[in-house]
Amino acid sequence: MDKFEEICRKHDLRITPQRVAIYRELTGDKSHPTADMIYRRMRKIFPFISFDTVNRTLNTFAQIGLIDSVECSGRGSRYDPNTERHHHLRCIQCNKISDFYDSSLDKIEIPKHVHEGFTVLNTSVVLTGICINCSKKGDSNGNKR
Ligand SMILES: [Zn+2]
Ligand SMILES: [Zn+2]
Repeated sequence: MDKFEEICRKHDLRITPQRVAIYRELTGDKSHPTADMIYRRMRKIFPFISFDTVNRTLNTFAQIGLIDSVECSGRGSRYDPNTERHHHLRCIQCNKISDFYDSSLDKIEIPKHVHEGFTVLNTSVVLTGICINCSKKGDSNGNKR
């Protein structure tokens, strides 16, 4: 929570009970939830909170570097409390995102032509595939998928 207060102060972001709760919810969740998932949980604590408020808060948190967002094609951002350098595995069937660390990927070399028209701020690798749970399900169903 120290980090939360420090970063909020630095960016003149008022520390409200809602913001604290959203941040707490996210830090306890390693599944890279969507704004919608956080919104549903927040409604149990703040019945009148709007989706827009939650969504905007998460975006603000991501902008000031308090959290990370992982872009997923089509399904909207997923939020990540882990701001340490890391990479992701995304299952195309259940959409589960898990973290992995690899120091050689951290040093990934960016092709020269990319730098010509683009300033790279962050390199993280997303590997897409099928997680162990989904591949097990596939096996037991045989060809019925
Ligand atoms: Zn899966
Ligand atoms: Zn992550």
